[in-house]
Amino acid sequence: MANQDDTFKKVISHAKEYGYVFQSSEIYDGLSAVYDYAQNGAELKKNIRDYWWRAMVQMNENIVGIDAAIFMHPTTWKASGHVDAFNDPLIDNKDSKKRYRADVLIEDYCAKIEAKIDKEVKKAAKRFGAAFNKEEFLSTNARVVGYQEKINTILSRMAKSLENEDLADVKALIEELAIADPMTGSKNWTDVKQFNLMFGTKLGASAETAMDLYLRPETAQGIFVNFLNVQKTSRLKIPFGIAQTGKAFRNEIVARQFIFRMREFEQMEMQFFIKPGTQGKWYEHWKAHRMKWHLSLGLGEENYRFHDHEKLAHYADAAADIEFKFPFGFKELEGIHSRTDFDLKAHEEHSGKKLQYYDNEDKESYTPYVLETSIGLDRMFLAVFSNALEEEDLGDGKTRTVLKLPSVLAPTKAAIFPLLAKDGLPEVAKQIVEDLKWDFNVIYEEKDTVGKRYRRQDANGTPFCITVDHDTLQDNTVTIRHRDTMAQERVKIDDLRAIIKKEVDVRHWLMKMK
Ligand code: ATP
Repeated sequence: MANQDDTFKKVISHAKEYGYVFQSSEIYDGLSAVYDYAQNGAELKKNIRDYWWRAMVQMNENIVGIDAAIFMHPTTWKASGHVDAFNDPLIDNKDSKKRYRADVLIEDYCAKIEAKIDKEVKKAAKRFGAAFNKEEFLSTNARVVGYQEKINTILSRMAKSLENEDLADVKALIEELAIADPMTGSKNWTDVKQFNLMFGTKLGASAETAMDLYLRPETAQGIFVNFLNVQKTSRLKIPFGIAQTGKAFRNEIVARQFIFRMREFEQMEMQFFIKPGTQGKWYEHWKAHRMKWHLSLGLGEENYRFHDHEKLAHYADAAADIEFKFPFGFKELEGIHSRTDFDLKAHEEHSGKKLQYYDNEDKESYTPYVLETSIGLDRMFLAVFSNALEEEDLGDGKTRTVLKLPSVLAPTKAAIFPLLAKDGLPEVAKQIVEDLKWDFNVIYEEKDTVGKRYRRQDANGTPFCITVDHDTLQDNTVTIRHRDTMAQERVKIDDLRAIIKKEVDVRHWLMKMK
């Protein structure tokens, strides 16, 4: 079995080779942690965004979408807490001169202990067979209980130290655990320092009048400052939500994991405004609902898990991550946060404007509480893409590389081939492209043998290949080949549209959320 590093390297090189993701400004040797989406990547990303938007906005009568500007009044970031508290604890290794997030070093240490637990579970499952009870094993096996206690002790001490700004203790923890630089093994660390992640810029023509601005580090604040405008013009009643997708910028200290952690990335966020006191119910609702969205795409239930936060952000009274099994292990993909009335209250205070809601039924005004769902579009892209990439064993020593993207998200839905580039076959194939392109992204291909064209489309993630041959000229039928099963069937040209639609239609996929 390939190790994690190899799998991840394959994902990155496949993304480049098949026109999904390129390093930004590659001809100048690239810009660290910034990436460009290429011809196929842009389509896949657009389709994921669209799938999210439809599930959140179109399918929910009480959720509307906006598109706020990246630049916002600088006081926004004072109110939100980002100027004072949007920091990561960083630590440098004096020998390697490499910089790390101190909390990530500690979390990675715990992940290694967790891997030991997984190993014990696997061993025991094998030993006990059908009689194996995982829950019971986890709570009774002395070694496993010991590992879990160690993890809990470490993480709660770290959470406490970070909350109390006790950075000396974070360093002490790293030293006590003998954590070494993962690249070099050196344990020669500097002190831990706080580092603000916002990018600053200036607005205005002259140095004297220029105003200091930030590139937004999250899209959420564009929703909060528009809360009342949207509520009044949409006449929505609480509970209701405002959704938005857009770019966010963070000067990440360590960004070595391809599009998992970028300095410029895209978020898909929804803020759900609710009556104070109902947050527990809505927190559970959105956790379950967002998980359903993920599962509807069929990436495998075993690849997701919830992680409840030990350390809560300054604005939250409950928070959980939906973690996904990336090629480098389980990591955060989406956050569900119960944000209380922190944001609206803070904006009221800093702007001097009332941001309250008048409840007609209860005849009272209040500052709504907020439940947030926040997912990184690029991380979702990586989840979908890495999960789809397979080196499939075809027997007899043969393999094929296939990108089993959910067909609703695939950049190209069908590739249409003439068996040979003569005898009038290209004309018929091009006519099929002309007909289908009104509904789907399709392409025409005539280069190389059909076998090679199939392989290329498999690696590209195209769900259908359609081949026009000499029989087509007689009976108007073509061969349609399915990417995942490689099954081929003979169908009428007139039926193609319906066959493809059945498989790629958003409706068919979203129905799985019911
Ligand atoms: P992390 O702990 O991984 O830094 P976070 O908890 O700071 O993430 P949030 O502020 O909750 O992340 O942002 C919501 C979502 O935005 C995350 O779940 C993630 O999918 C995405 N995201 C955050 N930072 C980045 C980044 N640098 N690159 C790509 N996606 C990101």
